Amino acid sequence: MKEFVESLGGQLIELDSLKFNEFIEDGIIDSLAPFNSAIGIHYDGKRISYHVESKNKSPKIGDLIHEAGHIFASLKPPSVADEVSFFGWEYAVAKKLGFLGAWKAASKTYMIDGDGTEFGSLSAIEQETFLQERLKEAISLGLISQTHEPLSVR
Ligand SMILES: [Zn+2]
Repeated sequence: MKEFVESLGGQLIELDSLKFNEFIEDGIIDSLAPFNSAIGIHYDGKRISYHVESKNKSPKIGDLIHEAGHIFASLKPPSVADEVSFFGWEYAVAKKLGFLGAWKAASKTYMIDGDGTEFGSLSAIEQETFLQERLKEAISLGLISQTHEPLSVR
C-alpha cells in the first residue's frame, strides 16, 4: 500500500497515537476518516496518516484505500466529495494490491445511493453489477485506465 501511495505522489505515514494527536493539533492531519478515528488525511498535502497503537482502533486496509480515493481520485475535498464517483477506483486498487476481500468487508456499510442502501445489503450479483458500473464511470472520469490501472487525477 505504501509503495502504491508513493507511486501516485502521496505519503502514507504510520504513527503512535501521541504523534497522531500532535499531527491533528499541528494541522498535518486536517480531516479524520468518519468511521475510523485511527486514520487522518491532509487533502492538499496528499498525506494519509494512521496509528496502530490500540488493536481495535488499528486501521483496516479497506478504510485506507477509501481515504486514498479521497486524495487521488476526487477533485473535491473530503467534506464535499462525491464518494460514489470513486468507488470504482477503490475497487481497482483493492484488486491490484490483492486486498479485494478486506476491501469488500470494509465497504459493507458503504452507502451506494441517497436512500441509505448499503453495499453489503446487495446480493452478490447486484454487487458485481454495481462494481462494473462504477468501473465504467471511473474510466470515463479518467480515474482508471482502460485496463483498470488506478491513476491519480490530482
Ligand atoms: Zn469518505
